[in-house]
Amino acid sequence: MGCGTSKVLPEPPKDVHLDLVKKVEPYTGYKNDIYKHFIKGDGDAIKSAIPSPPCHTNPLVEQPEPRKNRVAKYRAKFDPRVTAKYDIKALIGRGSFSRVVRVEHKATKQPYAIKLIETKYREGREVCESELCVLRRVRHTNIIQLIEVFETQERVYMVMELATGGELFDRIIAKGSFTERDATRVLQMVLDGVKYLHTLGITHRDLKPENLLYYHPGMDSKIMITDFGLASARKKGDDCLMKTTCGTPEYIAPEILVRKPYTNSVDMWALGVISYILLSGTMPFEDDNRTRLYRQILKGKYSYSGEPWPSVSNLAKDFIDRLLTVDPNDRMTALQALKHPWVVTMAASSSMKNLHRSISQNLLKRASSRCQSTKSAQSTRSSRSTKSNKSRRVRERELRELNLRYQQQYNG
Ligand code: ADP
Ligand code: MG
Repeated sequence: MGCGTSKVLPEPPKDVHLDLVKKVEPYTGYKNDIYKHFIKGDGDAIKSAIPSPPCHTNPLVEQPEPRKNRVAKYRAKFDPRVTAKYDIKALIGRGSFSRVVRVEHKATKQPYAIKLIETKYREGREVCESELCVLRRVRHTNIIQLIEVFETQERVYMVMELATGGELFDRIIAKGSFTERDATRVLQMVLDGVKYLHTLGITHRDLKPENLLYYHPGMDSKIMITDFGLASARKKGDDCLMKTTCGTPEYIAPEILVRKPYTNSVDMWALGVISYILLSGTMPFEDDNRTRLYRQILKGKYSYSGEPWPSVSNLAKDFIDRLLTVDPNDRMTALQALKHPWVVTMAASSSMKNLHRSISQNLLKRASSRCQSTKSAQSTRSSRSTKSNKSRRVRERELRELNLRYQQQYNG
């Protein structure tokens, strides 16, 4: 959701300025892709809930070549120590400096994920350091577990638990029904993980639905927090204040934007944004123009107008309001959020109004309006993130297909 893959990486604080934050260099097409010799094609990607786009329409995919050659070619890009132990199966995720592949442990046949990070570039190195520093310290049922790490001069391979249930948002749409109770159950698991991180002095700084993965495709799957590339871990003796500007634009807390020293409560703001999306399929703060988006965030102005908000309980709205509070001192902590009456009572209740129809309709509306704005934006700002436009287009097509399926399901 939101600006797709565009992330704001850490940078030293400067004067207060609304749109100074640095963005990860956009994907500029296959030619310049540092991974151009890496995996071609999405293999049998794990996003089982999402119909895979046909290969010829995916601009990231080269012309098909025999599978055997393809496998041999990308395997060659892995360090021999890795391929001696793991069979590389398929590409399951991409970031600006990373690729995530599904692998199988040769001896045990156990599946894992390997996140490969290019460390040739400074940003890649920093992201990798943050991620490893956190993953090496944590062990929690709602946080992806690091298994082992291989390092070469230019790459780091992190072997992690494999989550096969897909990203949070894909699941909500694919599931076909969604209630306030479902939302609170998801939030309870995420809050448990966040509370644990905060207790350890770790701030995730990039919480969003793309970084929350379901462990398996089953209805009862737990959810796991992943992607600690922007996380900050407090060292002994440090105060708990952070200063670097980073995050994903739609989820960035106001205090980060005004470059005030901030605390782990920035994660709680992001959880407010996620809760709003979970209940409505829309973003609380949204604008293609970054400066206007940041203005909205700074004012903390969002509304509960339109579907499905009239059907959403006041307790749910109160929960969101207590997270989307501009003053971080007034924002709920993870522990307080876990004790909020909406979370406590709703998670225990058995059935609630199904909000899915309006949520999926909102997602559909949003997808088509984003399509329009992407088209017009492309003509005037052709240098903007090709990658995020491409992945957005793929995502929008997926959303449209899924929505069609569910509309048919509802009507039938
Ligand atoms: P980035 O920093 O580039 O966003 P992520 O760690 O978020 O990298 O990984 C990118 C994507 O890869 C995720 O959104 C998710 O779809 C997939 N992914 C990452 N880690 C795993 C994992 N352990 N199991 C399954 N899929 C994963
Ligand atoms: Mg991510």
